[in-house]
Amino acid sequence: MSVATGNIVIKKVSKSRISEIDFSNLAFGQQFSDHMFVCDYKDGKWQQSQVIPFQNISLSPSSKIFHYGQSIFEGMKAYKNENGETLLFRPLENQKRLNISAKRLAIPEFPEESFMEGLEALLKIDKDWIPTTEGSSLYIRPFMLATGNGFHASPSDEYKFVIATSPSGAYFGGEIKVLIEEKYSRSANGGVGFAKAGGNYAGQFYPTQLAKEKGYQQVIWTDDNTHEYIEEAGAMNIFVRIGDTLLTGPTSDRILDGITRKSIITIAEDEGIKVEVRKIKVSELIEASKKGELKEMFGAGTAAVISPIAGFGHRGEDYDLPEMENSYASRLKKRITDIQYGKTEDKFGWRYPVK
Ligand SMILES: *Cc1c(COP(=O)(O)O)cnc(C)c1O
Repeated sequence: MSVATGNIVIKKVSKSRISEIDFSNLAFGQQFSDHMFVCDYKDGKWQQSQVIPFQNISLSPSSKIFHYGQSIFEGMKAYKNENGETLLFRPLENQKRLNISAKRLAIPEFPEESFMEGLEALLKIDKDWIPTTEGSSLYIRPFMLATGNGFHASPSDEYKFVIATSPSGAYFGGEIKVLIEEKYSRSANGGVGFAKAGGNYAGQFYPTQLAKEKGYQQVIWTDDNTHEYIEEAGAMNIFVRIGDTLLTGPTSDRILDGITRKSIITIAEDEGIKVEVRKIKVSELIEASKKGELKEMFGAGTAAVISPIAGFGHRGEDYDLPEMENSYASRLKKRITDIQYGKTEDKFGWRYPVK
């Protein structure tokens, strides 16, 4: 049975899988809600939007996604407040960035209204899948892939846009040690580092494996040209506290314009913390560490929110960070998550209730 609501055709599952989920013990991104949003692009336009049961996607072996990697994604979360209302956090930023990524990968853009309409329809149907335990949320994964056929290295003429969701617990536990990477690069000027293109992450796995073999959990990417400046922490933006100043690099072709990053900058300034957005030299971190002025480093992104860094390795030396009372990382994480979960005033107008 299918029904149309607004511009969307909805086909519901005959039986929900929700009773199979242990909501008190959720991993990150391992289980999937009953439904997904899909819309196909063919004959030069986006077709009928649909919400359908979560299911496999069947493709020809000649589909362009398998050969030329035309794929992009987004990452966002839905939260439930104490009254059981569904909240999103700055979702239009994700919608806009999806299209920035699409454009760079020669994928047709998806209309803003259709994105929000599809996302809201999906969240209404699967609202019981939004977990309410501390630190957990419904992780939302919008993505687009090239489904057109043929071995010719050219953009696909057909695409699929999907939004799938996953009830998820907190992303990583504990503090991590990172290795400053000086050989491999995540991104380069003129490249696709600013886009959430699938291939960017494939390229990170091998250097990260090498860092893990040396006892680190993650790498800090440096600029591809000189390797003198830090750029990102794995797939997160990076922040550093030197003295009482909070620093992060400027976004560029190579650094992804994270929504968590820009929210942290706004919140930190609002808290009266001095923030500098400027290039950060590896040598500056080492000098600050030697003088005892390097107080904190952390990664920032939707999945982990803020991921504190306990120390970094560089050219065979390890530099440990001090344990901080009332750290910026913990203060800023509390402030941003309180906004996201609807526990505090939404001074900046970032919450988006799904009604
Ligand atoms: C997604 C992502 C981030 C974080 O962006 P948010 O919008 O905060 O989730 C940072 N760096 C990279 C490389 C990313 O892919």
